[in-house]
Formats: sequence, structure tokens, C-alpha cells
Amino acid sequence: MNTSVVLSSNFHHGETNAYLRTHGSETIAALETALGALDGGTATVLPSGMSAISTFVETLPVGTVLVIPSTSYWGTMALLSEQARLGRVQLRPVDITDTDAVLAALHPSDGPTADVLWLETTINPTLGVPDLPVLIDAAHADGAVVGVDATFSTPLNVRPLELGADLVMHSVTKYLSGHSDLVQGVLVTRSAELHEHIRARRLVGGAVPGALECYLSLRGLRTLDVRFARQQENAAELARRLDAHPAVSRVRYPGLPSDPFHTRASELFDGYGAMVSFELAGSVEDADAVCERVRLIAHATSLGGVESLIERRAMYEGDASMGVPATLLRLSVGIEHVDDLWADLSQALG
Ligand SMILES: *Cc1c(COP(=O)(O)O)cnc(C)c1O
Repeated sequence: MNTSVVLSSNFHHGETNAYLRTHGSETIAALETALGALDGGTATVLPSGMSAISTFVETLPVGTVLVIPSTSYWGTMALLSEQARLGRVQLRPVDITDTDAVLAALHPSDGPTADVLWLETTINPTLGVPDLPVLIDAAHADGAVVGVDATFSTPLNVRPLELGADLVMHSVTKYLSGHSDLVQGVLVTRSAELHEHIRARRLVGGAVPGALECYLSLRGLRTLDVRFARQQENAAELARRLDAHPAVSRVRYPGLPSDPFHTRASELFDGYGAMVSFELAGSVEDADAVCERVRLIAHATSLGGVESLIERRAMYEGDASMGVPATLLRLSVGIEHVDDLWADLSQALG
């Protein structure tokens, strides 16, 4: 019933997989088959989400112009800013939820059209939702390649390749593996040419995923649907209760009918995700106190595991500089009983 964990770097002469970095293994291939099927393309697994993004960036020629989110996962921004400082790429950061701003950045009146548009299905951590199909079509009209970080949505909620995107990326670390016990990433594409470039980069760049991590991801994937259904159900309920709590000034969750991205998310996604961000009416110290007082929910970074986590994102320099509100708390909702989660949150807020 299970794929073997192949722990071998090399194989006898004459076997199909001579060397792990060059040819992969049965374990890696099994995970790539599963992840490719979920997104409807051909998958390449890399040792982390960041490794997936940097593998894609390494395939870009020097001088590539990228339109990128002005608020996004901080690591993406750190990687691309470094590449820009080194003179390898040019960046045009925009609010990707503002369709007109993206269109203007793709073909400005006073500069060259962009080569790449990078999107997140739901922005980490402000939970804005870009108009994916419109932006993908506009980028293609300008000849740009579109890559989408779909970590927050998972292929269960949206499959960007079906919307025309050229590349989809996930941090497998999060929902796909789902148990906070590994880091891993994946790139999926329908373009034979892009797939070949990515494989060539992995081969010579050396970013080969570990066999045990691949096995654990395959095991996690088997329960993705039931985990994520429970997590989304919990998140929707917590968002409703937080929205009614006097200590909370704003809840960001596209599943709330009052959320500015509710209509767009309802049209695009099969679910609203399990991340809830909220701001306190109080101070930064009050927000930090909530993180210190939770007992069932863990005060920890990352997301997507079966256990609920909370953190104040602007604590991280990268997020503060990207305009993330100082008191914004990001909650990654797990599979615990929703009443236990609410009891913990309300005592911490109290
Ligand atoms: C975590 C995360 C990444 C980076 O993935 P790692 O596996 O930590 O390298 C990229 N994008 C998003 C949206 C993430 O949440």
C-alpha cells in the first residue's frame, strides 16, 4: 500500500536511476505524480518552498522584469530584493488586489513590458485576493509568464493552471504535508519547456528533496481533504466569533460576507482557506500578550499543520516594512474542536 522510502544516492550500473540528483528516485517520483495530478500539470519537488521559488528565479535571464506583490510572503520578497540588488532582475512591486495597478505595472507608458507576473492566490498575511483570471489573461496578452504561489489555497480550493497560469508553486511544508514535520516545496507546470528548465536547474543547482520528507508528504496528502475541510470549517466559525468580539477591530477572512474580498473569493475558490488574520483595538503590547496567553493554540510561526498557531506578523522585520499592521495577529487554524479553540482565544483576548 505504501511507496518505498528509497535511501540510496546511487544505483548499480544499468539501472534506470543511476544517481539521485540526476535521476531522482521512486519515492520522489511518487510524490511528483500525486502533486502533478492535484494541480493538473507536471510537478518538480524541491527541498523547501523557497527552494522552489529560487529554482524558478534561477531559470530567468538576467534583466528579467518582474511584477510582484508589494505585500507577500516575506521570503519571496527577500529573495527577489536580493536578486534585484545583485542586478539580475528588476522588480515592480504593486498591490496585486488592485487590478488596474497590476495592468499599469505590466505595460507602463514609460518603460518595457514586464516578463513575469508573480501572484499569491491569497496574500500572506493580509488575506487579500487578486483577480487571478483577469491578471493571468492580461499578463499573457503582454507576453509575460505567470507564476502563482497557491500555498494558502491548496489545489482543493483553486488550480491556477486551469485558469491559464504557467506555473504554480506550493510550500509543501504547510497544508499539503500538514503535520509541521518537514520543509518542502513544489513547482507544477503544463509547459514542457518550463518543466525542462526547472528539471535542469534542479539537476545542476542540486536542490534534491529528501526521500523521508517525500514519504511523509505522501502520507500527509492522503488526509489533505479531511484535514482542510475541518480547518476551513473551524476558521469560518472563529472568524465569525472574532468579528463580534469587542477587543477586535478588524477581521480579515474572505469567507466573511463583510470582507472586501468575499465576492471575488466566492467566484474563484472552492473554499475560503483556514488562515484568519485579525487586528486588535488595543496596542502592540496587547497583541503580544494575546500570543503569550494562549494555551491550546501555540505561539509559533508557520501554518497549515493540524495544530492551531498564532503570531504577530509585524514582529518580523520583513513584514513590518511591507506595511503589515503592527497589531495584526495571524491565526493558522488547525483541526482541534472549535469550542476548545474559542475558549482559548476568548480567555487570551479577555
Ligand atoms: C511558507 C511559505 C513559503 C516558503 O516555503 P518554505 O517551505 O518555508 O520554504 C512561500 N510562500 C508562502 C505563501 C508560504 O506560506
